[in-house]
Amino acid sequence: MPGTQRWRNWAGNQTATGFDAVHPEGTDAIAAAVRAAVAAGRRVRPIGSGHSFSAIGRPEHVQLVLDRHAGLVDVTADGLVTVQAGMPLHRLNAELAARGWALTNLGDIDRQTVAGALSTGTHGTGAEFGGLATQLRALELVLADGSVLRCSATEAADVFSAARVGLGALGVLSAVTLQAVPAFALRAEEGPASLTELRADFDAFMTSTDHVEFYWFPHTDRCATKRNTRVPMGEVAPLPRWRAMWDDEVVANAAFGAVVAAGRVAPPLVRPLARVSARALSARTLTDDAHRVFVSRRRVRFREMEYAVPREAAPQVLGELQRAVDASDWRVPFPVEVRVAAADDAPLSTASGRDTAYVAVHVPARSDPGEYFAAFEAIAGAAGGRPHWGKLHGLDAAALAGRYPRFAEFTALRDRLDPAGVFGNAHLDRVLGPVPARTGRS
Ligand SMILES: Cc1cc2nc3c(=O)[nH]c(=O)nc-3n(C[C@H](O)[C@H](O)[C@H](O)COP(=O)(O)OP(=O)(O)OC[C@H]3O[C@@H](n4cnc5c(N)ncnc54)[C@H](O)[C@@H]3O)c2cc1C
Repeated sequence: MPGTQRWRNWAGNQTATGFDAVHPEGTDAIAAAVRAAVAAGRRVRPIGSGHSFSAIGRPEHVQLVLDRHAGLVDVTADGLVTVQAGMPLHRLNAELAARGWALTNLGDIDRQTVAGALSTGTHGTGAEFGGLATQLRALELVLADGSVLRCSATEAADVFSAARVGLGALGVLSAVTLQAVPAFALRAEEGPASLTELRADFDAFMTSTDHVEFYWFPHTDRCATKRNTRVPMGEVAPLPRWRAMWDDEVVANAAFGAVVAAGRVAPPLVRPLARVSARALSARTLTDDAHRVFVSRRRVRFREMEYAVPREAAPQVLGELQRAVDASDWRVPFPVEVRVAAADDAPLSTASGRDTAYVAVHVPARSDPGEYFAAFEAIAGAAGGRPHWGKLHGLDAAALAGRYPRFAEFTALRDRLDPAGVFGNAHLDRVLGPVPARTGRS
């Protein structure tokens, strides 16, 4: 009997109907749900906040929603924080802040669950800093046979290594332990720059302080830069409330909303409006709790593709993208986001084995990314780019195997832990290849 549930992701570009949703409470209940699904020959997809743009979390038969498995388990005196895997990052940030701790680096938003963010390799920016997976110290995984495996660098180390960015393909994360750091503040310096300058001086600029990123506005040479420097909590000096509201709600969200809305009714307006919004972001400096500076509200919905390229390739990739936009008749209302991260050693981390630059392109949620994303994918691909696991891309297992030296190590582990492909879906079958049992291979 098909189920009766309906699901859509944040961007609204992925939907599913006719499956069952289960809300287990506690690791035993997760294991029981997995066993029941396996016994019925059904596939299981855990889901977090549904913020992935790709179909990676799309349920086929049974969706495991961990909204009742989302509590704080423990914070030790040396900052090891253990949470149930369904906890959203914003709650984790608040729990840590209340105890004088913080995560050392975060992405742009905090609506994701800890498990969902880890599973797709979620990252922020910082040449010396890795993504969320690099902060992970231990995890508990419910396997396809319903058993529970605890892993860390010293316990089931091969599984731990791979499951740090596991795509939800190895099992259900039920608890995770992250290394927090003493709470700190960030001094944010934001201002304008040109893409020409930033490309010419890319390495020096992106390594000029702890967490650097910029947004380039297509159809212009303008960029908005953000340089965040770690400082002690005593230096906190936030903007007045009205100014923070003006910048975050009016300029960053409402102005973008207006460009996107205008683009729907009168597409020729997109280019001139993009030029206006590129000028609207003025210079400012503020110092606030790190998690408040790292994270913004994203009220205007969009679709996104992001590629991780070797850091040294970023200026060329951006130059080619700018030339492609200038030579096209595309109308791109969203800026291109550029970030960096340190190399790490998780097999399927987008920064695995190389210092990385991230380049992300966006279109309004209801529009077709068409040739724009396809052109960007080709440019990033020529530089050996690796797509973000939670964002849109067109690669399959054969192409991805060529971008990740340890791809086969990951799929061999997946085949061993989940020989029947219980934790797969059509998207994972495409990007990892189906398990041997589903292809008739042995
Ligand atoms: C507005 C916006 C801003 C974003 N900003 C950033 C950013 O700054 N940096 C960045 O890297 N990414 C960013 N992303 C992408 C986002 O971080 C990832 O897509 C992330 O996976 C979403 O988390 P989620 O909880 O919504 O997971 P979901 O999308 O719900 O799930 C993602 C994957 O995790 C799996 N999963 C969920 N729970 C479990 C579990 N318990 N065990 C095993 N697998 C599980 C799912 O099956 C699925 O495969 C952004 C997305 C949006 C919409």
